[in-house]
Amino acid sequence: MKNYVLDMTGNQFKMATKSIIDKNYRLNQVRKWIYEKKAVSFKNFTNLPKEVREKLDGRFLLRALKIVNKENSKIDNTIKYTFQTLDKKYFFAVFLSDKGRNSVCISSQIGCPVTCSFCYSGKVKFVRNLSRGEILEQILQIENDTGKKISGVLFMGMGEPMLNFSSVVFALNSLLSNKEFCIGKRHITVSSIGVVPAIKKLADKNFGVRLALSLHAVDERLRKRLISNNFSFGVEDILNAGKYYIKRTNSHLTIEYILLKGINSSVTDAHKLARLLKRYGLINSNVNVNLIPFNSLVNIEFQSPEYESIQKFKDILRFNRITVNIRQARGYDINAACGQLGY
Ligand code: SF4
Repeated sequence: MKNYVLDMTGNQFKMATKSIIDKNYRLNQVRKWIYEKKAVSFKNFTNLPKEVREKLDGRFLLRALKIVNKENSKIDNTIKYTFQTLDKKYFFAVFLSDKGRNSVCISSQIGCPVTCSFCYSGKVKFVRNLSRGEILEQILQIENDTGKKISGVLFMGMGEPMLNFSSVVFALNSLLSNKEFCIGKRHITVSSIGVVPAIKKLADKNFGVRLALSLHAVDERLRKRLISNNFSFGVEDILNAGKYYIKRTNSHLTIEYILLKGINSSVTDAHKLARLLKRYGLINSNVNVNLIPFNSLVNIEFQSPEYESIQKFKDILRFNRITVNIRQARGYDINAACGQLGY
């Protein structure tokens, strides 16, 4: 069986190709073909001797994913991709383009073991983690397909990134590396439902990428109802992990809060959230709150609050000096918006 190139770190690839490539400049040429030029076949590596190309082709694999479906939003430039893996499993990634900035929202798992009640990905039975290469290839394929350079990466697609810690960390190393993707740390966001030990480990790695914590409820019982498999991490532990993350990395923390009509979006809920963030010292310039009005889904009974309630919620947070944004739903006509990735 051939080795999947993107699954290997730079050093692993160097070791694996030792008998084929003996000069550093050749290795750099290969690296450029893979990550910069996004070549899909070793035949394209035209500045390498034919013999080297053939040897590489005989032992290594450049692509392990296939785009099997692509949907373009009619309301914005969002594109939703369905990828098929070599073992014939399916997952999604989303291309987002806004004011000349191109980002991707990528998946880290096939299905999701967390099973949040408001999320379509949570309805997809968990199959397996994606590998380093499968995480990174989503970006290369989308760059090739759109012809656009990706400058922002969101680990907010299917799956909980912190439950696939080692592949996500390998992928982050590659995204930040000057020799590979070379994406700025402030343009990468890792989201988590609150897997506390993994968040602390990520903080200790000190990549400096942004962290998005999906809080969604202030009250422990409600949070457990919304996020049934929350691995018993309470609000207190999660907010402390967020604080630790900021302290270790001097990076940015986003508190994600989905707004569900009649569940967690009242004036009282907004005041409770403001008080909670104040109590944990999380009202400062390193923290912002993202309000996500629920994006409607077939077979999921929640509803989004009315426009006025959303504005009121935001105003209360703002009055408490919290930096707050309302997340615009992107590509909701093709079920590409937050929480809509599923089948
Ligand atoms: S919101 Fe995130 S963690 Fe929850 S089910 Fe969806 S993908 Fe999984």
